[in-house]
Amino acid sequence: MSSGAEDKFQHEVCLNDKLREECGVFGIFLKDPEKNAVPLVYHGLLSLQHRGQESAGITAVKEKNMENRRAMGLVSQVFKPELLEQLNGPAAIGHVRYSTADTITVENAQPFASRSKLGSIAVAHNGTLVNAAKAREELENDGFSFTSSSDAEVITNLIARNYKKDLNLEKALTDTIQFIKGSYALVVLTDDALVGVRDPNGIRPLCLGKLNPPSRFNFPWKQKGGWILASESCAIDAVGGTFARDIEPGEVVIISGGQLKSFIIGEKNHRAVCAFEYVYFARPDSIIDRVDVYNARIKAGEILGQESPIEADLVIGVPDSGIPAAIGYGRATGTPFGMGIVKSKYVARAFIIPYKTQREEIVKVKHNVIAGEVRGKRVIIIDDSIVRGTTSRRLVEILRTAGAREVHMRICSPPVRYPCYFGIDTPHRKDLISNGSSPKELCSFIGADSLAFISVEGLLESMRATETGKNNPQDGYCLGCFTGEYPIRVSGEK
Ligand code: AMP
Repeated sequence: MSSGAEDKFQHEVCLNDKLREECGVFGIFLKDPEKNAVPLVYHGLLSLQHRGQESAGITAVKEKNMENRRAMGLVSQVFKPELLEQLNGPAAIGHVRYSTADTITVENAQPFASRSKLGSIAVAHNGTLVNAAKAREELENDGFSFTSSSDAEVITNLIARNYKKDLNLEKALTDTIQFIKGSYALVVLTDDALVGVRDPNGIRPLCLGKLNPPSRFNFPWKQKGGWILASESCAIDAVGGTFARDIEPGEVVIISGGQLKSFIIGEKNHRAVCAFEYVYFARPDSIIDRVDVYNARIKAGEILGQESPIEADLVIGVPDSGIPAAIGYGRATGTPFGMGIVKSKYVARAFIIPYKTQREEIVKVKHNVIAGEVRGKRVIIIDDSIVRGTTSRRLVEILRTAGAREVHMRICSPPVRYPCYFGIDTPHRKDLISNGSSPKELCSFIGADSLAFISVEGLLESMRATETGKNNPQDGYCLGCFTGEYPIRVSGEK
């Protein structure tokens, strides 16, 4: 850890909870109490499905009656019409979960709901707390019990406990936020409010949208309008809303009675949004913190082309996130862009499978080559990242089998050398192939003719060059998985 980086660290936390999740959260508050927000939440979750495929859940509230449904599976598998009909209310939240292999159980599905005679509360969380174990212990000492290993249940119980003390939602939220450390984008539902919260570094994205009375789309639920909270702006588009703004680092937004109130907790908040959101995780039609994800990927490809050009006949991208980068690389180097790899969207997620042999089997059916496009050619293939090296090795092999004369691999993120403690599912450090090998060794492992990664500065530039509007000079990006410098101090090792 560099001494300059020390200054950035705001908290010292103990890392003893290894649950890592990338997820999608969504919430709606309709001004008309007679209307039903649940179909909108369903559509919002469908467009956040890329953020989590293990489980899905929706909680709705109507006249102080809160109902929660969650189960394993994709949104469309979980929410068959019969189940959706059981939920109704003008305010609702939803969640899609992407978990690590060891935590895929229905008990960990979100939202979490807690009921007491004082009222109900439900929480959907994207991120990872680094002091969850400490909070859990405190809560257990106070008589709370847990049904899961999820951080969201910890947050739900903390808010419920703090609310019991003062019967003041704002204070309960403030006390909770001052206690929890880590990354969190939260949507919270109470009997009469929808709340959005983003951690002091804004590591995970969260944005606000409006459902205006009828304009472009004539949806019946827009008659009086309402508010939307979503992990990504693509979900606001999906329900016919308009993007209002990003939730700021450390900001709490409370929507109640059709009014929106907002306050910031903490004075030294600065944005350190996860760079991997732009590299891999987010949908290309989203805009996160004034950075257009698609254009940032194009720009990264251009920069990679300037940094590591090579003579070739064709540049192709690994679907999905490698494609814009390949377009950018082609533009910068004058190499023709083509579609050489097809990805099956219906194959289970290889990345999460704990056993190497099974992972390799799945990777085999996940990608195929358009042989006629690559045969006899010198091919550059662009992927967003190399984590364990399984995917790149397989891609090089299938390109050669299909007759590519040369295969040059270019990667749109720097080598992933450090684990993520804030929600991206990177394995333990020992399993990160770039941690133990140089790019040259890695090139021979994957069997390519050449291999190059974008530099850290190049990646930063790809996001900065795409930013629109006024940015706080203090603001930046979390590059922890590439540099080992995290916005929140972590102790302990994965
Ligand atoms: P690997 O095969 O382990 O080197 O992983 C790299 C491949 O997995 C790339 O094609 C990425 O698009 C994809 N990938 C990178 N990070 C993740 C993640 N956190 N979850 C799922 N897939 C990922």
